[in-house]
Amino acid sequence: MSDHATTSAGTMEHIVSLCKRRGFVFQSSDIYGGLSSAWDYGPLGVELKNRIQRFWWREMTQLHDDIVGLDAAIMMHPRVWEASGHVDSFSDLMVEDTVTNERFRWDHLPEENQRTKISPAGNPLSEPKQFNLMFKTHLGPVQESSSVVYLRPETAQGIYVNYKNVLQTSRVRIPFGIAQVGKAFRNEIVTKNFIFRTCEFEQMEMQFFVHPSEDEKWFEYWKEQRINYYRKMGIKMDRLRFAQHGPDELAHYAKDAFDIQFLFPFGWQELEGIHNRTDFDLSRHSEFAGKDLSYLDDLTKERYLPYIIETSAGLTRSVLMVLSDAYEEETIAEDDVRTVLRFHPDLAPITVGVFPLVKKDGLAELARDIERELREDFTTFYDQSGAIGRRYRRQDEIGTPYCITIDYETKENNTVTLRYRDSMEQVRIPVAELTIRIKQAIREYQRVGE
Ligand code: ATP
Repeated sequence: MSDHATTSAGTMEHIVSLCKRRGFVFQSSDIYGGLSSAWDYGPLGVELKNRIQRFWWREMTQLHDDIVGLDAAIMMHPRVWEASGHVDSFSDLMVEDTVTNERFRWDHLPEENQRTKISPAGNPLSEPKQFNLMFKTHLGPVQESSSVVYLRPETAQGIYVNYKNVLQTSRVRIPFGIAQVGKAFRNEIVTKNFIFRTCEFEQMEMQFFVHPSEDEKWFEYWKEQRINYYRKMGIKMDRLRFAQHGPDELAHYAKDAFDIQFLFPFGWQELEGIHNRTDFDLSRHSEFAGKDLSYLDDLTKERYLPYIIETSAGLTRSVLMVLSDAYEEETIAEDDVRTVLRFHPDLAPITVGVFPLVKKDGLAELARDIERELREDFTTFYDQSGAIGRRYRRQDEIGTPYCITIDYETKENNTVTLRYRDSMEQVRIPVAELTIRIKQAIREYQRVGE
């Protein structure tokens, strides 16, 4: 870390502007004036999102030998959503400003507005009414009630309905988990804060099946595992906290629930939910599908319906978290402020920037050769335009942790300058040592949380 003064300004305005300027996130259908609440991930954004997804997937499947993966379809049999309770109760209370018609989620309104029934604009509010968040559509060419399908509002149900398939085809025994990453859709009453709350988003969910007598033990285990996962990602721990759901906040299926909250630029907000869903889902699917979903322990001969501990994190919301956490404006000199994204190297869209000092005298070709070699191990980016200092800053702004400059000395003695994003330190090292030095530096980050 450098000793320059830094501010984690991380204001939404700065982050949104950086995301657009550098190709992380664009407004959906921008050329048509944009579609509110939907966002597209640009060249750097998709890399960042994929890397967060991979980080999660590795953590949940590769580093836990009792968890297997799944990728279920977004569209499911409509009875799934009756059984899960979503048709009846997946709704939020909505109120409307009777003058401006602006809509609000009742539970997101300040207490004062709830008490006085006056909107933030000072107008009377309508009576609260339930608003179901599921998107409904029709499968096939005929729009009749039997063809109704929903866009899934959570990925979890795809796991529950495949629980038996996984059990019968994989060598898993309880306790075990099923992990899945995928799109989910909610017709949110109010979408705001950029990619924080959108109608189309991605979730990373893991459902862990346990003996009913061990639910509390596993609940605690997963709370600890999940907070440690964020530590491994390099997220500042003073920006994370647990918040337990009070009895009136618990979802219809939950016995206990904790949110992991992150201090976003607009305040503490949920990033991930950890829920004890009991045997609610499996018992409902048993009942609605008429299938026995109980588990037979072949050692004890006990038959029971497992309890489920769920960890449900937002992938697209995690992108915003990682950006907010990494964003810094660092004062280098009185009139020199650099914007830097201090991504963990495993998450950075580009790992190594490679620059020839100048294009001529064979330096560009030499730099290209070095870049091609490094590609075997890292995601690289070649840049030969502009002053070298500006090239470094362009990479700082998109979070590239390492940059290499090839100059005249390289031709003489096969050494290059390796520059570290965080400290801005520059060291001269032989080309032959590049891969190992960069790998060592990455390993330093990876040790955190181990
Ligand atoms: P809220 O009450 O804030 O609407 P929730 O508690 O219903 O959300 P969960 O059902 O627990 O949310 O969803 C699990 C995770 O999925 C959340 O922690 C969040 O990261 C993500 N998520 C949920 N809704 C959205 C959304 N509209 N946009 C982006 N991510 C979302």
